[in-house]
Amino acid sequence: LVVVEHVDKHFGDLHVLNDIDTVVNRGEVVVVIGPSGSGKSTLCRAINRLETIDSGTIMIDGEKLPEEGAALAKLRADVGMVFQSFNLFAHKTVLENVTLAPIRVKRRSRKEADAKAMEILDRVGVANQAKKMPAQLSGGQQQRVAIARSLAMNPKLILMDEPTSALDPEMINEVLDVMIGLAKDGMTMIVVTHEMGFARKAADRVLFMADGRIVEEATPAQFFDHPESDRAKDFLSKIL
Ligand code: ATP
Ligand code: MG
Repeated sequence: LVVVEHVDKHFGDLHVLNDIDTVVNRGEVVVVIGPSGSGKSTLCRAINRLETIDSGTIMIDGEKLPEEGAALAKLRADVGMVFQSFNLFAHKTVLENVTLAPIRVKRRSRKEADAKAMEILDRVGVANQAKKMPAQLSGGQQQRVAIARSLAMNPKLILMDEPTSALDPEMINEVLDVMIGLAKDGMTMIVVTHEMGFARKAADRVLFMADGRIVEEATPAQFFDHPESDRAKDFLSKIL
């Protein structure tokens, strides 16, 4: 579903993505892990074309990422993104947050969009919050709404960049449980996270990045129990 070939990107002198190659198949869950500044967020953003690349190719469903216009809007509809800071629209209700894009982009009727949104909010366990404003929700609830909002577009792929890092510890599991549920239902996901439990339970593969490169690519069991590189061993010794 996602093919990344020889992707390079610089920020000035900084080689932030260095010859990145990887393939994510439909239904796969890939966890991206690595030290701060290694390029994890940049890679995610490049796949959604929130960030341009200098060279190489990124293809989704056999098509190169579009540069602009309607094709780019279609890409953004097909590729959901969930950020560390929930990024909900503060002045819209939970329900409106979830229905906005389906109504505007997919031209769904309000009635149809509302019904689908309520179904999805129920799936992530916040249907009873639908009429509230985001600020009235806990962090974990807000992040589940953000996940619901991306699900409402029926994405082919969801990118998540540290979706639980901004949460208080007691709220992390409610979000991880939703993510594990999505993984089990066959959603294709690329997730930047240091949550080992999620990686072990849900990931098909772990990509370990350092200095803009993919240093290791392995199953979670291989990676966590038998990391090969010194970079990975050093990193794991700090977070485990
Ligand atoms: P973290 O774990 O801290 O989120 P990361 O692996 O996601 O780190 P990136 O955000 O991809 O890292 O950043 C990679 C490098 O690129 C960092 O050194 C960062 O300072 C730099 N960088 C990111 N965005 C920009 C930008 N817009 N302009 C210049 N440098 C940037
Ligand atoms: Mg990041």
